[in-house]
Amino acid sequence: MRAIEGAADWVHVDVMDNHFVPNLTLGLPVVQSLRKATTIPFDVHLMIADPQRWAPAYAEAGAYNVTFHAEACDDPVALAKSLRAAGAKAGLAIDRDTPVEPYLELLPYLDTVLIMTIKAGFGGQKFMPEMLDKVRDVRRRVTVGDLDVRIEVDGGIAADTIEQAAEAGADAFVAGTAVYGAADPAEAVRKLRALAAGRMGKSM
Ligand code: ZN
Repeated sequence: MRAIEGAADWVHVDVMDNHFVPNLTLGLPVVQSLRKATTIPFDVHLMIADPQRWAPAYAEAGAYNVTFHAEACDDPVALAKSLRAAGAKAGLAIDRDTPVEPYLELLPYLDTVLIMTIKAGFGGQKFMPEMLDKVRDVRRRVTVGDLDVRIEVDGGIAADTIEQAAEAGADAFVAGTAVYGAADPAEAVRKLRALAAGRMGKSM
């Protein structure tokens, strides 16, 4: 995390439970201890089943934003309210095979919408440009409603994909390999940020 302090706005933390997705990553205790080790805000992406049970603890642990999956949650509005009550921003993630339309009416209750540009939970996938139609749908609704909602894209974001995501209306970008695979991660963040900034708002 030191490598990107001062360059990235957030650290995106993928939490996988080997249930909602067939992979296991770090969980709450690790997030709690990492939180003490850095000043950079945490954007926690919960790829877990039963987020109603687990998500508020991440907010209480000091996460800046906590995003849970639409597919895993029966009552997204209630969970978003409890995340906000616990002091975090509330995010809803939409996986590759989930349409975004049914969730557009929930936007006033959300601070972040995360559009997966790959299938959640599997490495080594290529960015799927067709997912950007969902970004456009959310952007349209956010603009029309004058809502304060971040539109985040996650999966395969790199120098060759970030511009099209920004042009579609995304304004938060998760990059893993493109940053940590670079010799100078902070410089990689700055380059990606410059590419995105050149395209944001161009489509509207
Ligand atoms: Zn993620």
